[in-house]
Amino acid sequence: MSDRIYFDNSATTPLDPRVTKAMGPYLDGVFGNPSSLHWAGREAHEALAQARQQVADLFSAQPNEIIFTASGTESDNMALIGVIEGLGQRENHLITSAIEHPAILETCRYLEGQGVDVTYLPVDGDGLIDPNDLRQALRPTTRLVSIMAANNVVGTLQPITELSRITHEHGALFHTDAVQAVGKIPLNVQTQPIDLLSLSAHKLHGPKGVGALYVRSGVTLKPLVHGGGQERGLRSATENVAGLVGLGKAAEIAREEMSEEASYLVQLRDRLIDTITATLPNAYLIGHRYRRLPGHVSLGLAGQEGEAIKLLLSLDEAGIAISTGSACSANHGSEPSYILRAMGFDLIRARGSLRITLGRFNTAAEVDRFLNVLPHIAAELRPITSRQFVAA
Ligand code: PLP
Repeated sequence: MSDRIYFDNSATTPLDPRVTKAMGPYLDGVFGNPSSLHWAGREAHEALAQARQQVADLFSAQPNEIIFTASGTESDNMALIGVIEGLGQRENHLITSAIEHPAILETCRYLEGQGVDVTYLPVDGDGLIDPNDLRQALRPTTRLVSIMAANNVVGTLQPITELSRITHEHGALFHTDAVQAVGKIPLNVQTQPIDLLSLSAHKLHGPKGVGALYVRSGVTLKPLVHGGGQERGLRSATENVAGLVGLGKAAEIAREEMSEEASYLVQLRDRLIDTITATLPNAYLIGHRYRRLPGHVSLGLAGQEGEAIKLLLSLDEAGIAISTGSACSANHGSEPSYILRAMGFDLIRARGSLRITLGRFNTAAEVDRFLNVLPHIAAELRPITSRQFVAA
C-alpha cells in the first residue's frame, strides 16, 4: 500500500528490485549444488564466485577472504569463538564494548563461561568509545578486540580505524561487527587494519538469512559448523546460492551508489532531526550529532519516555513503521535499554527512545508526512511530567 511509510531500515530493509531480479534464475532454473563437478554444479559455483567477488569489492578485500554464513549473528559468533578457540591458548582476554549487539554480547557471555576474560569498554554520552580506554584495557593475553562499526540503536559510528590501529600495535586481532555499517559508510580493509568483519545481507536491501564474515588472509579460525568442508572448511553446509547471489548484487549496488545515497539520506535525516527538535520542545537527539549513520535518527521525548511504545503504536495506526530501540529487543519493550544505560541515561530516559531509520526507497514526501503527523500524535500522549520528581 503506497500510503504506508517504512522508517525501520535498521531492523531490516526491503529487497531492492534489482536484487530480486538477480536472484530469480537461482530460485527457478539454476538449481545445482555448487560442490558438484557437472554443468549444474558449475553454474551454481560460478554464481557463488561472482557473489564472493562482489562482496569483497565492497571493502577492498580478496574474494578468498570472504566466508559466507547464514546471518550477521552467525558471522559474529564465528569471529569471536573461532578466533579464541582457534588460538588454543590457555589464557585469553577479549575486549569489546558495553553497547554491542546481543550477537556479540551473548557470545562473550558464552566465552566467559569457557574461562575467557572479557572487558566491556564504556562509552560516553554520545555512545563513543575513548581510544585511550582501549589502550589501557589491552593486556599481554588480549587476543581479540571486537568493536561495532555503527550502533544499531543510536546510530553512532565508532572510530574503528584508530581502534584497529591501536589493537594491531599491541599485536592482537581486530574484529568489527559492521552489520549496520556495510553499504552505508565506506570501509576498506586495505587502509583499515581490520582482521575480521561481519555483515548481513538484509540490512543492505538483500535477502534475510544470508551473511558473510571477512577473514584476513593468514588469520586462523576454528570452525563452528562441521561437515562437508564448504567455505574453505570454515563453514560446512551447501550454500544458499540464490540468497548469496542476492547478497552479491546488493553489495555491488551499494558500492556503486553508496556515496550518492549517503548524501541523500543525510539530507533527509538532518531535516528530521532539525525539525523535530525545533517543533517538539521536549525532543532530544540520542547519539552523536554528526558521527552517525546517514539515515539514522534516535530521539527521546523528555518527560514522555514511558509513552514510547504508545507513540510507536499510534504511528503504526497511521501506517508509519518506526521502532523503539532495537527490533531484536521487541520482546523486551518496556525494559530500559542497556545501550542507553551505558551512555549514562537514567532508568526513565533509558526506557523511551524512538528510532527512525531511513533507507534507499524513502522519499522527502514521506519525511514531510511524518513531520506533519508526529506533533499531533505526541500531543495525545500523557502530558510531560516534571523530571525533578522522577527517581533515577
Ligand atoms: N549486529 C548488529 C549491529 C545488528 O544490528 C544485527 C541485527 O540487527 C546483527 C548483528 C544480527 O544480524 P542478523 O539479523 O543477520 O543475524
